[in-house]
Amino acid sequence: MGTVFLASMCRYSSGVPGRDHASGRLTRSVALLDTRRELARPAGASSKVCKNGLTSLRILGDNPESAKQIPPDNGEIMTHDEATLRAREIASRVLAPAAGPNDKAGRFSTEAVDSLGQSGLLALMLPPDLGGPGLGPRTFAAVAATLAEADASVAMVYLMHILGVATIRSARPSAAKGVTPLLQEVVAGRHLSTLAFSEPGSRSHFWAPMSRARRNGSGVCISAKKSWVTSAGYAKSYIVSSLAPDGAGPTDSTLYLVPADTPGVSVAGAWDGLGLRANASAPLALDDCRVPSSFQLTDDGAGFQVMLNVVLPLFNLGAACVALGLCRAAVAGTTAHLKSARFEHLGQSLGESLPTLRAQLASMQIDTDGLSARIDDLIEHLESPREATMLRVLESKAAAGDVAIGVTSTAMRICGGAAFSKHMSIERLFRDAHAGAVMAPTGDVLREFIGKALLGMPLF
Ligand SMILES: Cc1cc2nc3c(=O)[nH]c(=O)nc-3n(C[C@H](O)[C@H](O)[C@H](O)COP(=O)(O)OP(=O)(O)OC[C@H]3O[C@@H](n4cnc5c(N)ncnc54)[C@H](O)[C@@H]3O)c2cc1C
Repeated sequence: MGTVFLASMCRYSSGVPGRDHASGRLTRSVALLDTRRELARPAGASSKVCKNGLTSLRILGDNPESAKQIPPDNGEIMTHDEATLRAREIASRVLAPAAGPNDKAGRFSTEAVDSLGQSGLLALMLPPDLGGPGLGPRTFAAVAATLAEADASVAMVYLMHILGVATIRSARPSAAKGVTPLLQEVVAGRHLSTLAFSEPGSRSHFWAPMSRARRNGSGVCISAKKSWVTSAGYAKSYIVSSLAPDGAGPTDSTLYLVPADTPGVSVAGAWDGLGLRANASAPLALDDCRVPSSFQLTDDGAGFQVMLNVVLPLFNLGAACVALGLCRAAVAGTTAHLKSARFEHLGQSLGESLPTLRAQLASMQIDTDGLSARIDDLIEHLESPREATMLRVLESKAAAGDVAIGVTSTAMRICGGAAFSKHMSIERLFRDAHAGAVMAPTGDVLREFIGKALLGMPLF
């Protein structure tokens, strides 16, 4: 996975349709071999590959020079600071007031998506030549954590959209004509995308779809059941995985862009989750959907590489940031409760009265700052890839899921009956935090990958 990951980072970071920087088609067995080698290799031995991948990423990511190249249609240039400011404004004006009611009603916030579109944040990582600000993982992380602090459901909608757009952007050259108008819609703030990978048959093993595309003239026909699709029914396009028509193995998938209005696409059930209730992660059915070749994003069988190399690093970073936002909200909510709730008979607030609660609050803060430092480290790795970068990618989501569950669980305990009886937002944070460990790659699967990689075993 190491080499294939880094090779695709080159492609991802300079992935303007029409240019293909991938170093040729790598077979799965080569990728697995390289994964073992990459992680076992002496320090510095892979720096050439790393350097290539990361150099390109750095040019795109959070580069003030690239921001200056934005064709300013409204006179504004979105820098890292401006993007973070816009996210904060939307979080406090749109997300925070509605998070509780939307959670209760399981209601998807179209207002949040509209605001993100109007602010330019939906096009955050698109490069200047496509009309975006060309901001990178550092800004994406700050925006995702800021949104999650106010409403993790919306942050997850945003995360899945950014992944969808990154996948579209990494499309093979022959799809340029098909996908460019859609990317322009993203820049205009009118297009929300998402990933439709998971299927009931292979469950959390999203890399092994059970559905298989059938050839139909120059395109394909797809019938598939997708078990969970964030923003189902609200996204304007779905990035759909399916086994390639002639794929021989379980990971020989292809990725397709399927516009939501394609005949045969339908939301196949309601979303009534324990957490992230306001993000419409419902099942989706594709019934004999015709997909033209201009919407085939990867070569036949090359979907697996894009899942691992384009989607995985950004997903794990974003999921860790959602966890961080939840932790920060839990610390803030718990602090406020310890200051305001009182033992009237003692004439003291809870915080003044009980050292045990102060110690638990301190632990929440320590764990939250630890997660923040871990995310900073991951961002640095993505900006300057090196030997352990892939390991950090795998570790970050696994660790973040546990931290979020731990911190919000402690918040539940500290806030006691007030939290248990749903008088504060802590129990929403607690429920939302549990989604991170379930979303694939799950915490268990990540540990499996890390353990196998350390032992030099094939991952798949
Ligand atoms: C809120 C939410 C939003 C989602 N949005 C999307 C989306 O937009 N697009 C999408 O494609 N999917 C999405 N998913 C689906 C998600 O990524 C997983 O596919 C899904 O949650 C898997 O659930 P499962 O119970 O079927 O997993 P199972 O595979 O049944 O897992 C059950 C348990 O087994 C463990 N396990 C599985 N395999 C291994 C292994 N090899 N080693 C060790 N332990 C293992 C798991 O960790 C888990 O604890 C979403 C899920 C949630 C909760």
